[in-house]
Amino acid sequence: MQYYSTNNKNNLVTFRDAVLKGIAEDGGLFLPVEIKTFSNEFFKYISSLSFQAIAFEVARRFIEEEIPEKDLKILINETLTFPAPIVPLNENIYVLELFHGPTLAFKDFGARFMAKTLSYFLRNEDKEVLILVATSGDTGSAVANGFYNVEGIKVVLLYPSGKVSKIQEQQLTTLYGNITALEIDGTFDDCQKLVKQAFADKELNKIKNLTSANSINIARLIPQSFYYFNAYAQLKNKDKEVIFSVPSGNLGNLTGGLLAYKMGLPVAKYIGACNANNVLPHYISSGEFIAEPSVKTISNAMDVGNPSNFARVVSLFQNDYNLIKKVLFSQSYSDDETRKAMSEINKRYGYVIDPHGAVGYLALNEYLNTHPGNYHSIILETAHPAKFSDEVEKVTGKTVQMPDRLKVSLEKPKHSIKLSKDFDDFKLFLQEFK
Ligand SMILES: *Cc1c(COP(=O)(O)O)cnc(C)c1O
Repeated sequence: MQYYSTNNKNNLVTFRDAVLKGIAEDGGLFLPVEIKTFSNEFFKYISSLSFQAIAFEVARRFIEEEIPEKDLKILINETLTFPAPIVPLNENIYVLELFHGPTLAFKDFGARFMAKTLSYFLRNEDKEVLILVATSGDTGSAVANGFYNVEGIKVVLLYPSGKVSKIQEQQLTTLYGNITALEIDGTFDDCQKLVKQAFADKELNKIKNLTSANSINIARLIPQSFYYFNAYAQLKNKDKEVIFSVPSGNLGNLTGGLLAYKMGLPVAKYIGACNANNVLPHYISSGEFIAEPSVKTISNAMDVGNPSNFARVVSLFQNDYNLIKKVLFSQSYSDDETRKAMSEINKRYGYVIDPHGAVGYLALNEYLNTHPGNYHSIILETAHPAKFSDEVEKVTGKTVQMPDRLKVSLEKPKHSIKLSKDFDDFKLFLQEFK
């Protein structure tokens, strides 16, 4: 399958190159030249298929013969080792729980699939691949977990010392094995700068096979469409129109949904639910895209002022604002509204939701109030409430049960290497790294 750059439709690469490059040389993001659709027939029997079988059907339309079917099946089975169930709040509203993976957030789907895909394409290289990742918390742990024990690959994670939460730090520093955590005496921006400098350093690149695990990699996006199909498959009767509400920051999760839509998944509306960072709602209401500095909120994984996947969203709809508006609804909510929603969902449905999912609930409610109809509504719950237990417990008065896989990483001793934010120190570390 060929992929084009959102900056130039004539700049074409293979799927393999799109994965290895991450971002196009012209700075654009990769999208498939052709989106292969499903027949109506497929949606009649989709409910009889397993999550893995559905994912295989979706993935093969993006990858075609670049990964043979037999290998793709193995890759998917190794990625999807946990479920993505829909849990009903009432007869019309469901929560799609995307937090059953190792780091308790939906990013596990993308990170794991990308790790296995990279490892597949690099399987015959004799040099070991070194992945460098700068992280402010969540992404790093999902990526590290995705690459954990993947053959031929080592990961060096850089995180800002004292600037990630206790839970995040434990998740970053307790894997060991092929994962090394560097605790940088600086900010997230310093970490990112070190990684960029390393990629640009000729000497380093001569002795090390450096690769990025960039969040805009197409291999992180594709698996984020699997669970939309699988959620649809779980609906007992498919007699009503379907709406998805997606808590959004960089719009990667939403783009996964829009790809599913383009492949023919019968969805009436996608809702881009945002916190105070309201670039998408502003675009939907005005047609203007204005990047803003990000604002800190309690749904912090959505604190994004310049959503990186926006270029993909508009490209999927031929840059036609009116087409986008037909499919997308978007609204922004404050932290106070988010807290109120967490409390309301708990009181009304006995369900404990995290702050990100609560933003999804608010936007869904607003849509349902202004567009009455008969729908199956599905809210994507992007993180486990235990990851945000302080907020959740304060608002609901309930103790959040910590899943065992999180408890285990909280109990393990932390392993990190402290480094300054000086590039020479980082370079020396990499030169000597084995
Ligand atoms: C990353 C993240 C989001 C935002 O997803 P995007 O793909 O960046 O829009 C929402 N919720 C949680 C918990 C996340 O980790």
